[in-house]
Amino acid sequence: MSAADEGGGVGRRLAGWFGRRAGQLAGPLAADDEASQHGAVAVVEAIISGLPDPVIMLDRDGRAIVFNAGAAALAPALRRGDPASIALRVPELVEAVRDVSAGGGVRRIEFAERVPTERHFEAFVSPIVLGSLHAVLITLHDLTSIRRVEEMRADFVANASHELRTPLAALAGFIETMQGPARDDVAARDRFLGIMREQAWRMARLIDDLLSLSRIELRAHMRPDTPVDLVPIVRQVVDGLQTLAQDRGVTVDVVAPAEPLKVLGDRDELLRLFENLIENGLKYGASGKRVDITLARLDAPDGKHEASIAVRDYGPGIPAEHLPRLTERFYRADVADSRAQGGTGLGLALVKHILNRHRGRLAIESQIGKGATFTARLPFSEDY
Ligand code: ADP
Repeated sequence: MSAADEGGGVGRRLAGWFGRRAGQLAGPLAADDEASQHGAVAVVEAIISGLPDPVIMLDRDGRAIVFNAGAAALAPALRRGDPASIALRVPELVEAVRDVSAGGGVRRIEFAERVPTERHFEAFVSPIVLGSLHAVLITLHDLTSIRRVEEMRADFVANASHELRTPLAALAGFIETMQGPARDDVAARDRFLGIMREQAWRMARLIDDLLSLSRIELRAHMRPDTPVDLVPIVRQVVDGLQTLAQDRGVTVDVVAPAEPLKVLGDRDELLRLFENLIENGLKYGASGKRVDITLARLDAPDGKHEASIAVRDYGPGIPAEHLPRLTERFYRADVADSRAQGGTGLGLALVKHILNRHRGRLAIESQIGKGATFTARLPFSEDY
């Protein structure tokens, strides 16, 4: 059954019910059409007032008979007795109402509003008969969030394909060169193989990050329940990144309290979180020669406690306009720099998702020329 058929079915069932109900209500006044119609309208009004979606009932000339609060919010100019077309100003909808008034069946249309914000709607326009009253019922449904999710999914697939295609094209190009012009050039072959290995790793990292993201999203609503101490986790990450720090000539300094910082967490995800933040500091802030990591216990005014882990570098910093978007998938402040550093553009998106799952949050502060500070805050396990 199509959506339109279904809408039609509901419309007809409602119409039948309203017809009977209106007849019953009219009872002794059956001869009095107007009283019967008033009764029917009152019933419709009572029912639609409880519905969250905008609903409008029009007479066959397109004048509003009743509407609910959802409809009033959507079309503030709507007035009883006035043509609804003035308030709705959606040509497709006006045309559908005209068709249905002229005896047509249920119509389903979609339309978009651009001002003040972009919103998408579907509308069912159905004929209904309420005793002697022949009317048209418009039910609207807000599709904006569905459309937004669809758009995000399409963007994500386009971005992921593009990110994978770039190293793949480089690999294919070098293979062709080595099979052709550089066939006997041993020095070039070695250099090309080095680049090819780097590109292959880049693809592997990207796939790894994509899989991690989807795994974390799948578990987004399941709170981690194992008590873990963040201090040894951060120290383990710093130890693992020593080679990178040395390569970049960066000194990493960790300041941690003597007592444990216990949160309910997923160890692997927390390792990933700090690895991303500290690795970014080492890569993008290398020119500052220093990365400071400060772990602390914060006492909130409401008596609850938080673990705070700040990763501070002294590199070039990040222009303010990029800060709000850094945790979006594939967003980079400097695309060429990220690529040169082997970045996937997914690191901070992973950080955000991991923190969300742990009921934590991320703050980013930066001043051009003075470096950047990424601070993760997580609620203490006893405060969950
Ligand atoms: P990537 O894989 O590109 O490193 P991230 O999601 O980890 O992706 O980071 C997104 C972007 O944020 C990076 O491409 C970089 O432009 C910027 N960025 C992240 N951390 C820092 C930092 N410490 N200093 C300057 N820029 C940073």
